Amino acid sequence: MQVVTERILSLNPRTGRVQKQFLIPTDQEVKDTVHRARCAFPQWKQLCYKERAQYIQRFREIFLSNSDKLVSILAEENGRPAAESYFAEILPNIDLLQYWAKKTEKFLKPEKIFLNPIQFPGKKGYLQFEPLGVIAMIAPWNYPISIPLRQIIPALMAGNIVILKPSEKVPRISSELGRLFEEAKFPEGVFQIVQGNGKVGEALVRAGVQKIFFTGSVATGKKIMAMASETLTPVSLELGGKDPAIVLEDADLERASNGILWGACANAGQSCNSVERVYIDRKIYAPFRELLAQKITQLRWKGEETDVGPLIDSTQWQKVEKQLHEAVETGAKIVGERVPPDQKGYFFPPTLLENVSPSAQVLAEETFGPLLPLIPFDSEEEAIQKANDSRYGLAASVWTRDLEKGERVAKRIEAGHVTINDTTFTPALYQVPWGGIKESGFGKTNSRHALMEMVTPKFILIDKSKAKSEPWWYPYDESAQKLAEGFAHFFRKGSFKERLQGLLQALISFPKRKGLD
Ligand code: NAD
Repeated sequence: MQVVTERILSLNPRTGRVQKQFLIPTDQEVKDTVHRARCAFPQWKQLCYKERAQYIQRFREIFLSNSDKLVSILAEENGRPAAESYFAEILPNIDLLQYWAKKTEKFLKPEKIFLNPIQFPGKKGYLQFEPLGVIAMIAPWNYPISIPLRQIIPALMAGNIVILKPSEKVPRISSELGRLFEEAKFPEGVFQIVQGNGKVGEALVRAGVQKIFFTGSVATGKKIMAMASETLTPVSLELGGKDPAIVLEDADLERASNGILWGACANAGQSCNSVERVYIDRKIYAPFRELLAQKITQLRWKGEETDVGPLIDSTQWQKVEKQLHEAVETGAKIVGERVPPDQKGYFFPPTLLENVSPSAQVLAEETFGPLLPLIPFDSEEEAIQKANDSRYGLAASVWTRDLEKGERVAKRIEAGHVTINDTTFTPALYQVPWGGIKESGFGKTNSRHALMEMVTPKFILIDKSKAKSEPWWYPYDESAQKLAEGFAHFFRKGSFKERLQGLLQALISFPKRKGLD
Protein backbone atom coordinates (compact mmCIF):
# COMPACT_ATOMS: atom_id res chain seq x y z
CA MET A 1 0.00 0.00 0.00
CA GLN A 2 1.32 3.43 -0.89
CA VAL A 3 1.60 5.82 2.09
CA VAL A 4 0.64 9.35 1.03
CA THR A 5 2.50 11.88 3.12
CA GLU A 6 0.73 15.20 3.47
CA ARG A 7 2.50 18.53 3.28
CA ILE A 8 1.97 22.05 4.53
CA LEU A 9 3.26 25.14 2.78
CA SER A 10 5.21 28.15 3.91
CA LEU A 11 3.87 31.13 1.93
CA ASN A 12 5.17 34.65 1.65
CA PRO A 13 2.09 36.83 2.21
CA ARG A 14 3.80 39.79 0.54
CA THR A 15 3.93 37.86 -2.74
CA GLY A 16 1.58 34.93 -2.25
CA ARG A 17 4.42 32.62 -3.36
CA VAL A 18 5.27 29.27 -1.76
CA GLN A 19 8.72 29.35 -0.17
CA LYS A 20 9.00 25.88 1.29
CA GLN A 21 7.05 22.70 1.93
CA PHE A 22 6.99 20.70 5.15
CA LEU A 23 5.93 17.08 5.67
CA ILE A 24 3.37 16.46 8.35
CA PRO A 25 3.33 13.42 10.62
CA THR A 26 0.91 10.50 10.52
CA ASP A 27 -1.30 9.71 13.52
CA GLN A 28 1.17 6.97 14.48
CA GLU A 29 4.06 9.45 14.41
CA VAL A 30 2.08 11.78 16.68
CA LYS A 31 1.54 8.89 19.11
CA ASP A 32 5.27 8.10 18.99
CA THR A 33 6.03 11.73 19.83
CA VAL A 34 3.77 11.52 22.89
CA HIS A 35 5.44 8.25 23.87
CA ARG A 36 8.89 9.87 23.73
CA ALA A 37 7.55 12.75 25.81
CA ARG A 38 6.20 10.37 28.46
CA CYS A 39 9.55 8.61 28.67
CA ALA A 40 11.30 11.94 29.22
CA PHE A 41 9.02 13.02 32.07
CA PRO A 42 10.41 11.10 35.10
CA GLN A 43 13.94 12.43 34.67
CA TRP A 44 13.00 16.01 33.79
CA LYS A 45 10.64 16.17 36.75
CA GLN A 46 13.44 15.02 39.09
CA LEU A 47 15.74 17.92 38.16
CA CYS A 48 15.84 20.80 40.59
CA TYR A 49 14.67 24.25 39.46
CA LYS A 50 18.24 25.50 39.11
CA GLU A 51 19.09 22.69 36.72
CA ARG A 52 16.02 23.35 34.59
CA ALA A 53 16.78 27.07 34.68
CA GLN A 54 20.21 26.39 33.17
CA TYR A 55 18.57 24.99 30.04
CA ILE A 56 16.28 28.02 29.83
CA GLN A 57 19.18 30.43 30.25
CA ARG A 58 21.11 28.62 27.53
CA PHE A 59 18.09 28.81 25.26
CA ARG A 60 17.83 32.54 26.05
CA GLU A 61 21.39 33.16 24.85
CA ILE A 62 20.78 31.18 21.66
CA PHE A 63 17.43 32.94 21.10
CA LEU A 64 19.06 36.35 21.40
CA SER A 65 21.95 35.57 19.12
CA ASN A 66 19.47 34.37 16.48
CA SER A 67 17.05 37.28 16.84
CA ASP A 68 17.95 38.93 13.50
CA LYS A 69 17.41 35.66 11.68
CA LEU A 70 14.03 35.15 13.39
CA VAL A 71 12.97 38.65 12.38
CA SER A 72 13.91 38.04 8.76
CA ILE A 73 11.94 34.77 8.65
CA LEU A 74 8.97 36.58 10.22
CA ALA A 75 9.19 39.14 7.42
CA GLU A 76 9.08 36.38 4.82
CA GLU A 77 6.46 34.14 6.39
CA ASN A 78 4.21 36.61 8.26
CA GLY A 79 4.99 39.70 6.21
CA ARG A 80 5.84 41.58 9.37
CA PRO A 81 7.70 44.91 9.38
CA ALA A 82 11.02 44.31 11.15
CA ALA A 83 10.46 46.90 13.91
CA GLU A 84 7.16 45.27 14.79
CA SER A 85 8.76 41.82 14.96
CA TYR A 86 11.48 43.07 17.31
CA PHE A 87 8.88 44.78 19.54
CA ALA A 88 6.43 41.89 19.63
CA GLU A 89 8.42 38.71 19.17
CA ILE A 90 11.93 39.39 20.43
CA LEU A 91 12.11 42.09 23.12
CA PRO A 92 9.34 40.80 25.46
CA ASN A 93 10.93 37.34 25.51
CA ILE A 94 14.27 38.55 26.81
CA ASP A 95 12.78 39.31 30.22
CA LEU A 96 10.18 36.56 30.02
CA LEU A 97 12.86 33.86 29.81
CA GLN A 98 14.76 35.40 32.69
CA TYR A 99 11.61 35.80 34.76
CA TRP A 100 10.62 32.14 34.64
CA ALA A 101 14.18 30.90 35.06
CA LYS A 102 14.45 32.94 38.25
CA LYS A 103 10.96 32.99 39.75
CA THR A 104 9.42 29.56 39.20
CA GLU A 105 11.04 28.01 42.26
CA LYS A 106 9.70 30.78 44.49
CA PHE A 107 6.19 30.55 43.01
CA LEU A 108 6.06 26.78 43.46
CA LYS A 109 7.58 26.64 46.94
CA PRO A 110 5.69 24.13 49.11
CA GLU A 111 2.96 25.90 51.06
CA LYS A 112 2.29 25.14 54.74
CA ILE A 113 -1.36 24.63 55.58
CA PHE A 114 -2.71 25.71 58.96
CA LEU A 115 -4.74 23.01 60.72
CA ASN A 116 -6.71 23.98 63.82
CA PRO A 117 -4.84 22.30 66.73
CA ILE A 118 -8.02 21.89 68.77
CA GLN A 119 -9.71 19.82 66.10
CA PHE A 120 -6.61 18.28 64.58
CA PRO A 121 -3.93 17.90 67.26
CA GLY A 122 -0.69 16.33 66.08
CA LYS A 123 -1.39 16.89 62.38
CA LYS A 124 0.42 19.12 59.98
CA GLY A 125 0.26 19.45 56.24
CA TYR A 126 1.60 21.22 53.19
CA LEU A 127 0.95 21.61 49.48
CA GLN A 128 3.50 20.52 46.96
CA PHE A 129 3.06 21.71 43.38
CA GLU A 130 3.68 18.87 40.97
CA PRO A 131 4.01 19.03 37.18
CA LEU A 132 1.15 17.51 35.19
CA GLY A 133 3.21 15.45 32.73
CA VAL A 134 2.97 15.86 28.97
CA ILE A 135 1.38 19.14 27.92
CA ALA A 136 0.22 19.74 24.34
CA MET A 137 0.26 23.31 23.12
CA ILE A 138 -1.71 24.11 19.99
CA ALA A 139 -0.80 27.55 18.73
CA PRO A 140 -2.03 30.14 16.21
CA TRP A 141 0.05 31.81 13.51
CA ASN A 142 -0.28 35.46 14.47
CA TYR A 143 2.52 35.63 17.10
CA PRO A 144 4.34 32.40 16.27
CA ILE A 145 7.20 32.99 18.73
CA SER A 146 5.80 34.97 21.65
CA ILE A 147 2.58 33.04 22.16
CA PRO A 148 4.21 29.60 22.33
CA LEU A 149 7.15 30.82 24.46
CA ARG A 150 4.82 32.36 27.06
CA GLN A 151 3.40 28.90 27.63
CA ILE A 152 6.36 26.61 26.89
CA ILE A 153 8.83 28.22 29.29
CA PRO A 154 6.79 28.17 32.55
CA ALA A 155 5.54 24.68 31.67
CA LEU A 156 9.09 23.36 31.30
CA MET A 157 10.32 25.21 34.38
CA ALA A 158 7.52 23.60 36.41
CA GLY A 159 8.82 20.17 35.32
CA ASN A 160 6.40 19.38 32.50
CA ILE A 161 7.19 18.00 29.07
CA VAL A 162 5.94 20.06 26.12
CA ILE A 163 4.77 19.15 22.63
CA LEU A 164 4.06 22.19 20.47
CA LYS A 165 1.76 21.98 17.44
CA PRO A 166 2.27 25.30 15.67
CA SER A 167 -0.12 26.60 13.06
CA GLU A 168 0.19 25.14 9.57
CA LYS A 169 0.53 28.74 8.34
CA VAL A 170 3.92 29.26 10.00
CA PRO A 171 5.95 26.07 9.56
CA ARG A 172 9.21 27.83 8.75
CA ILE A 173 9.45 30.06 11.79
CA SER A 174 8.24 27.20 13.97
CA SER A 175 10.89 24.83 12.70
CA GLU A 176 13.50 27.54 13.38
CA LEU A 177 12.20 27.83 16.95
CA GLY A 178 12.51 24.06 17.26
CA ARG A 179 16.09 24.25 16.00
CA LEU A 180 16.96 26.78 18.73
CA PHE A 181 15.60 24.42 21.39
CA GLU A 182 17.69 21.63 19.86
CA GLU A 183 20.76 23.83 20.03
CA ALA A 184 20.07 24.44 23.72
CA LYS A 185 20.42 20.65 24.14
CA PHE A 186 17.33 19.94 26.19
CA PRO A 187 17.24 16.23 27.09
CA GLU A 188 15.65 13.99 24.44
CA GLY A 189 11.86 14.29 24.31
CA VAL A 190 11.53 17.22 26.75
CA PHE A 191 10.48 19.68 24.05
CA GLN A 192 9.17 18.51 20.69
CA ILE A 193 7.38 20.10 17.78
CA VAL A 194 4.83 18.36 15.59
CA GLN A 195 4.15 20.40 12.49
CA GLY A 196 0.78 20.14 10.83
CA ASN A 197 -2.79 21.17 10.27
CA GLY A 198 -5.99 20.68 12.28
CA LYS A 199 -5.87 16.94 11.62
CA VAL A 200 -2.50 16.68 13.36
CA GLY A 201 -3.92 18.85 16.17
CA GLU A 202 -6.79 16.39 16.59
CA ALA A 203 -4.39 13.44 16.68
CA LEU A 204 -2.42 15.20 19.43
CA VAL A 205 -5.54 16.00 21.47
CA ARG A 206 -6.49 12.31 21.31
CA ALA A 207 -3.00 10.94 21.99
CA GLY A 208 -3.24 10.82 25.79
CA VAL A 209 -1.62 14.03 26.99
CA GLN A 210 -2.24 15.42 30.47
CA LYS A 211 -3.34 18.91 29.43
CA ILE A 212 -4.01 20.96 26.32
CA PHE A 213 -3.19 24.64 26.07
CA PHE A 214 -4.99 25.95 23.03
CA THR A 215 -4.70 29.44 21.58
CA GLY A 216 -6.79 30.14 18.52
CA SER A 217 -10.30 30.76 17.26
CA VAL A 218 -13.50 30.22 19.23
CA ALA A 219 -14.71 27.64 16.69
CA THR A 220 -11.61 25.46 17.03
CA GLY A 221 -11.55 25.98 20.80
CA LYS A 222 -15.04 24.51 21.05
CA LYS A 223 -14.04 21.49 18.92
CA ILE A 224 -10.98 20.86 21.07
CA MET A 225 -12.96 21.10 24.28
CA ALA A 226 -15.52 18.62 22.94
CA MET A 227 -12.77 16.16 21.91
CA ALA A 228 -10.92 16.58 25.20
CA SER A 229 -14.11 15.86 27.15
CA GLU A 230 -14.04 12.29 25.81
CA THR A 231 -10.96 11.56 27.91
CA LEU A 232 -11.55 14.29 30.53
CA THR A 233 -8.30 15.93 29.48
CA PRO A 234 -8.21 19.43 30.97
CA VAL A 235 -8.00 22.33 28.54
CA SER A 236 -6.99 25.95 28.73
CA LEU A 237 -8.53 28.07 25.98
CA GLU A 238 -7.20 31.46 24.85
CA LEU A 239 -9.61 32.53 22.15
CA GLY A 240 -10.55 35.52 20.05
CA GLY A 241 -11.82 38.98 20.82
CA LYS A 242 -13.78 41.95 19.50
CA ASP A 243 -12.11 44.57 21.63
CA PRO A 244 -13.83 47.92 22.13
CA ALA A 245 -12.13 51.28 22.69
CA ILE A 246 -14.17 53.96 24.44
CA VAL A 247 -13.12 57.56 23.73
CA LEU A 248 -14.62 59.89 26.33
CA GLU A 249 -15.26 63.57 25.78
CA ASP A 250 -12.17 64.72 27.67
CA ALA A 251 -9.71 62.31 26.01
CA ASP A 252 -6.36 63.52 24.71
CA LEU A 253 -7.39 63.09 21.08
CA GLU A 254 -3.86 63.07 19.76
CA ARG A 255 -2.77 60.20 22.03
CA ALA A 256 -6.09 58.36 21.63
CA SER A 257 -5.96 58.49 17.83
CA ASN A 258 -2.32 57.34 17.72
CA GLY A 259 -2.96 54.53 20.20
CA ILE A 260 -6.18 53.31 18.63
CA LEU A 261 -4.76 53.30 15.12
CA TRP A 262 -1.77 51.29 16.28
CA GLY A 263 -4.01 48.94 18.30
CA ALA A 264 -6.20 48.38 15.23
CA CYS A 265 -3.50 48.03 12.58
CA ALA A 266 -0.45 46.48 14.31
CA ASN A 267 0.20 43.03 12.87
CA ALA A 268 -2.30 44.10 10.18
CA GLY A 269 -5.08 43.90 12.78
CA GLN A 270 -4.32 40.21 13.31
CA SER A 271 -3.94 40.33 17.09
CA CYS A 272 -6.45 38.63 19.36
CA ASN A 273 -6.69 41.95 21.19
CA SER A 274 -6.69 44.34 18.24
CA VAL A 275 -8.99 47.32 18.65
CA GLU A 276 -12.02 46.30 16.57
CA ARG A 277 -14.76 48.75 17.65
CA VAL A 278 -14.37 52.42 18.61
CA TYR A 279 -17.10 54.13 20.62
CA ILE A 280 -16.67 57.91 20.55
CA ASP A 281 -18.51 60.56 22.58
CA ARG A 282 -20.72 62.35 20.07
CA LYS A 283 -19.42 65.74 21.28
CA ILE A 284 -15.94 64.94 19.95
CA TYR A 285 -16.95 62.53 17.19
CA ALA A 286 -16.26 64.90 14.29
CA PRO A 287 -12.75 66.07 15.29
CA PHE A 288 -11.72 62.58 16.40
CA ARG A 289 -12.95 61.03 13.15
CA GLU A 290 -10.97 63.69 11.25
CA LEU A 291 -7.79 62.88 13.15
CA LEU A 292 -8.15 59.15 12.54
CA ALA A 293 -8.99 59.72 8.88
CA GLN A 294 -5.95 61.91 8.39
CA LYS A 295 -3.60 59.53 10.20
CA ILE A 296 -4.83 56.33 8.59
CA THR A 297 -3.97 57.64 5.13
CA GLN A 298 -0.38 58.15 6.28
CA LEU A 299 0.10 54.46 7.11
CA ARG A 300 2.15 52.65 4.50
CA TRP A 301 0.40 49.36 3.82
CA LYS A 302 1.77 47.99 0.52
CA GLY A 303 5.12 47.52 -1.16
CA GLU A 304 8.49 46.76 0.41
CA GLU A 305 8.58 49.13 3.38
CA THR A 306 5.29 49.12 5.30
CA ASP A 307 3.86 50.15 8.65
CA VAL A 308 1.03 47.66 8.20
CA GLY A 309 2.05 44.30 6.79
CA PRO A 310 -0.16 42.07 4.63
CA LEU A 311 -2.79 39.66 5.93
CA ILE A 312 -1.52 36.13 6.37
CA ASP A 313 -3.20 34.50 3.37
CA SER A 314 -6.06 34.66 0.91
CA THR A 315 -8.55 33.03 3.33
CA GLN A 316 -7.95 35.79 5.86
CA TRP A 317 -8.04 38.43 3.12
CA GLN A 318 -11.41 37.15 1.84
CA LYS A 319 -12.82 37.10 5.38
CA VAL A 320 -11.96 40.75 6.00
CA GLU A 321 -13.15 41.80 2.54
CA LYS A 322 -16.45 39.96 3.15
CA GLN A 323 -17.05 41.82 6.42
CA LEU A 324 -16.32 45.12 4.71
CA HIS A 325 -18.64 44.28 1.85
CA GLU A 326 -21.47 43.19 4.16
CA ALA A 327 -21.09 46.34 6.28
CA VAL A 328 -21.30 48.58 3.20
CA GLU A 329 -24.27 46.61 1.80
CA THR A 330 -26.12 47.23 5.08
CA GLY A 331 -25.50 50.97 5.10
CA ALA A 332 -21.96 51.58 6.39
CA LYS A 333 -19.85 54.34 4.83
CA ILE A 334 -16.11 54.15 4.30
CA VAL A 335 -14.44 57.21 5.81
CA GLY A 336 -12.42 58.90 3.07
CA GLU A 337 -11.57 57.29 -0.25
CA ARG A 338 -11.77 53.51 -0.68
CA VAL A 339 -8.25 52.58 -1.65
CA PRO A 340 -8.30 49.50 -3.90
CA PRO A 341 -6.49 46.53 -2.36
CA ASP A 342 -3.18 45.52 -3.88
CA GLN A 343 -3.32 42.72 -6.43
CA LYS A 344 0.05 41.43 -5.34
CA GLY A 345 0.17 39.53 -2.04
CA TYR A 346 -2.44 39.88 0.68
CA PHE A 347 -2.15 43.57 1.51
CA PHE A 348 -5.33 45.16 2.80
CA PRO A 349 -5.74 48.94 3.11
CA PRO A 350 -6.44 50.08 6.68
CA THR A 351 -10.06 51.26 6.55
CA LEU A 352 -12.38 53.28 8.81
CA LEU A 353 -16.13 52.66 8.70
CA GLU A 354 -19.01 54.68 10.09
CA ASN A 355 -22.78 54.49 10.11
CA VAL A 356 -22.44 50.74 10.63
CA SER A 357 -25.64 48.76 11.17
CA PRO A 358 -25.75 47.40 14.76
CA SER A 359 -26.33 43.91 13.35
CA ALA A 360 -23.37 43.99 10.93
CA GLN A 361 -20.78 41.19 11.22
CA VAL A 362 -18.04 43.76 11.60
CA LEU A 363 -19.51 44.74 14.99
CA ALA A 364 -20.27 41.22 16.17
CA GLU A 365 -17.58 38.88 14.84
CA GLU A 366 -13.82 39.03 15.14
CA THR A 367 -12.40 40.69 12.00
CA PHE A 368 -8.65 40.04 12.32
CA GLY A 369 -7.80 42.74 9.84
CA PRO A 370 -7.26 46.53 9.71
CA LEU A 371 -10.95 47.43 9.51
CA LEU A 372 -12.21 49.83 12.16
CA PRO A 373 -15.86 50.79 12.77
CA LEU A 374 -16.50 54.14 14.51
CA ILE A 375 -19.69 54.48 16.57
CA PRO A 376 -20.85 57.62 18.39
CA PHE A 377 -22.43 57.47 21.87
CA ASP A 378 -24.39 59.97 23.97
CA SER A 379 -23.65 58.88 27.53
CA GLU A 380 -21.06 56.95 29.52
CA GLU A 381 -23.77 54.42 30.33
CA GLU A 382 -24.51 53.85 26.64
CA ALA A 383 -20.80 53.41 25.85
CA ILE A 384 -20.39 50.77 28.56
CA GLN A 385 -23.53 48.96 27.50
CA LYS A 386 -22.42 48.88 23.84
CA ALA A 387 -18.89 47.80 24.71
CA ASN A 388 -20.26 44.91 26.80
CA ASP A 389 -22.77 43.87 24.17
CA SER A 390 -20.55 41.14 22.74
CA ARG A 391 -20.04 37.42 23.11
CA TYR A 392 -16.32 38.13 23.51
CA GLY A 393 -14.56 39.58 26.56
CA LEU A 394 -10.83 39.66 25.89
CA ALA A 395 -9.60 43.25 26.34
CA ALA A 396 -10.80 46.85 26.07
CA SER A 397 -9.47 50.37 26.38
CA VAL A 398 -10.81 53.64 27.81
CA TRP A 399 -9.42 57.04 26.76
CA THR A 400 -9.84 60.01 29.10
CA ARG A 401 -7.83 62.66 30.94
CA ASP A 402 -9.88 62.01 34.09
CA LEU A 403 -8.20 58.90 35.46
CA GLU A 404 -10.83 58.36 38.15
CA LYS A 405 -13.52 58.35 35.53
CA GLY A 406 -11.35 56.01 33.44
CA GLU A 407 -11.12 53.55 36.32
CA ARG A 408 -14.84 53.81 36.99
CA VAL A 409 -15.60 52.85 33.39
CA ALA A 410 -12.81 50.22 33.25
CA LYS A 411 -14.25 48.41 36.26
CA ARG A 412 -17.58 47.98 34.48
CA ILE A 413 -16.20 46.59 31.22
CA GLU A 414 -16.54 42.83 30.80
CA ALA A 415 -13.00 41.84 29.78
CA GLY A 416 -9.82 40.21 31.06
CA HIS A 417 -7.71 43.38 30.57
CA VAL A 418 -8.84 47.00 30.42
CA THR A 419 -6.24 49.66 29.69
CA ILE A 420 -6.72 53.37 30.34
CA ASN A 421 -5.07 55.61 27.73
CA ASP A 422 -3.18 52.64 26.35
CA THR A 423 -3.90 49.55 24.33
CA THR A 424 -3.01 46.12 22.95
CA PHE A 425 0.49 45.61 24.41
CA THR A 426 -0.46 43.98 27.72
CA PRO A 427 -0.17 40.29 26.71
CA ALA A 428 3.56 41.02 26.66
CA LEU A 429 3.56 41.67 30.43
CA TYR A 430 4.82 38.32 31.69
CA GLN A 431 3.92 39.17 35.30
CA VAL A 432 0.22 39.84 34.58
CA PRO A 433 -2.31 37.07 33.88
CA TRP A 434 -3.47 37.29 30.28
CA GLY A 435 -6.80 35.86 29.11
CA GLY A 436 -10.43 36.74 28.67
CA ILE A 437 -13.93 35.91 29.79
CA LYS A 438 -17.11 34.87 27.97
CA GLU A 439 -16.32 33.26 24.58
CA SER A 440 -12.79 34.66 24.67
CA GLY A 441 -11.98 31.57 26.73
CA PHE A 442 -10.93 30.77 30.25
CA GLY A 443 -7.25 29.96 30.24
CA LYS A 444 -4.53 32.22 31.52
CA THR A 445 -1.01 32.75 30.25
CA ASN A 446 1.68 34.78 32.00
CA SER A 447 2.22 35.20 35.74
CA ARG A 448 1.92 32.88 38.74
CA HIS A 449 -1.77 32.37 37.87
CA ALA A 450 -0.84 30.70 34.57
CA LEU A 451 1.82 28.61 36.30
CA MET A 452 -0.87 27.24 38.59
CA GLU A 453 -2.65 25.87 35.52
CA MET A 454 0.48 23.86 34.72
CA VAL A 455 0.80 22.06 38.04
CA THR A 456 -1.40 20.17 40.43
CA PRO A 457 -1.35 21.08 44.11
CA LYS A 458 -0.76 17.88 46.04
CA PHE A 459 -1.56 17.84 49.75
CA ILE A 460 0.73 15.93 52.06
CA LEU A 461 -0.56 15.36 55.58
CA ILE A 462 1.70 14.18 58.36
CA ASP A 463 0.19 12.83 61.57
CA LYS A 464 2.77 12.52 64.30
CA SER A 465 0.35 11.58 67.07
CA LYS A 466 0.69 8.16 68.67
CA ALA A 467 -3.09 7.78 69.09
CA LYS A 468 -4.62 4.46 68.11
CA SER A 469 -7.67 6.02 66.55
CA GLU A 470 -9.31 9.28 65.41
CA PRO A 471 -12.54 10.77 66.80
CA TRP A 472 -14.38 10.28 63.49
CA TRP A 473 -13.26 6.67 62.91
CA TYR A 474 -15.47 3.65 63.87
CA PRO A 475 -17.23 2.78 66.13
CA TYR A 476 -19.97 5.40 66.03
CA ASP A 477 -20.87 4.83 69.69
CA GLU A 478 -22.19 7.27 72.28
CA SER A 479 -18.78 8.85 72.82
CA ALA A 480 -18.57 9.67 69.12
CA GLN A 481 -21.82 11.51 69.21
CA LYS A 482 -20.99 13.31 72.46
CA LEU A 483 -17.70 14.54 71.11
CA ALA A 484 -19.12 15.75 67.82
CA GLU A 485 -22.14 17.36 69.46
CA GLY A 486 -19.94 19.01 72.11
CA PHE A 487 -17.74 20.63 69.46
CA ALA A 488 -20.76 21.76 67.43
CA HIS A 489 -22.20 23.46 70.54
CA PHE A 490 -18.88 25.04 71.39
CA PHE A 491 -18.50 26.60 67.92
CA ARG A 492 -22.07 27.84 67.53
CA LYS A 493 -23.35 31.22 68.78
CA GLY A 494 -24.69 30.80 72.30
CA SER A 495 -24.16 31.76 75.92
CA PHE A 496 -20.71 31.39 77.40
CA LYS A 497 -22.02 28.64 79.70
CA GLU A 498 -23.51 26.60 76.83
CA ARG A 499 -20.33 26.89 74.81
CA LEU A 500 -18.13 25.89 77.76
CA GLN A 501 -20.38 22.89 78.45
CA GLY A 502 -20.03 21.88 74.81
CA LEU A 503 -16.25 22.09 74.95
CA LEU A 504 -16.07 20.08 78.19
CA GLN A 505 -18.38 17.41 76.73
CA ALA A 506 -16.14 17.12 73.69
CA LEU A 507 -12.90 17.04 75.70
CA ILE A 508 -14.17 14.33 78.06
CA SER A 509 -14.92 12.05 75.11
CA PHE A 510 -11.73 12.95 73.30
CA PRO A 511 -9.21 10.49 74.90
CA LYS A 512 -11.60 7.56 74.39
CA ARG A 513 -12.13 8.44 70.75
CA LYS A 514 -8.39 8.73 70.19
CA GLY A 515 -7.84 5.33 71.82
CA LEU A 516 -5.77 7.00 74.55
CA ASP A 517 -7.84 6.10 77.62
P1 NAD B 1 -7.34 28.46 14.45
O1 NAD B 1 -8.35 28.15 15.48
O2 NAD B 1 -7.73 28.32 13.03
O3 NAD B 1 -6.05 27.52 14.62
C1 NAD B 1 -5.30 27.51 15.80
C2 NAD B 1 -4.54 26.20 15.90
O4 NAD B 1 -5.47 25.12 16.02
C3 NAD B 1 -3.69 25.88 14.67
O5 NAD B 1 -2.48 25.31 15.11
C4 NAD B 1 -4.53 24.85 13.93
O6 NAD B 1 -3.79 23.98 13.12
C5 NAD B 1 -5.15 24.11 15.09
N1 NAD B 1 -6.39 23.39 14.76
C6 NAD B 1 -7.31 23.71 13.82
N2 NAD B 1 -8.33 22.81 13.85
C7 NAD B 1 -8.04 21.93 14.83
C8 NAD B 1 -8.70 20.78 15.35
N3 NAD B 1 -9.87 20.36 14.88
N4 NAD B 1 -8.12 20.10 16.38
C9 NAD B 1 -6.94 20.53 16.89
N5 NAD B 1 -6.26 21.59 16.42
C10 NAD B 1 -6.80 22.29 15.42
O7 NAD B 1 -6.81 29.91 14.77
P2 NAD B 1 -5.76 30.78 13.94
O8 NAD B 1 -6.42 31.27 12.70
O9 NAD B 1 -4.47 30.06 13.82
O10 NAD B 1 -5.50 32.01 14.93
C11 NAD B 1 -6.29 33.13 14.98
C12 NAD B 1 -7.23 33.05 16.16
O11 NAD B 1 -6.51 32.89 17.36
C13 NAD B 1 -8.02 34.33 16.33
O12 NAD B 1 -9.35 34.02 16.65
C14 NAD B 1 -7.34 35.01 17.50
O13 NAD B 1 -8.14 35.91 18.21
C15 NAD B 1 -6.95 33.83 18.33
N6 NAD B 1 -5.86 34.18 19.25
C16 NAD B 1 -6.14 34.32 20.58
C17 NAD B 1 -5.12 34.72 21.44
C18 NAD B 1 -5.35 34.92 22.91
O14 NAD B 1 -4.39 35.08 23.62
N7 NAD B 1 -6.57 34.94 23.38
C19 NAD B 1 -3.84 34.97 20.93
C20 NAD B 1 -3.61 34.80 19.57
C21 NAD B 1 -4.63 34.42 18.73
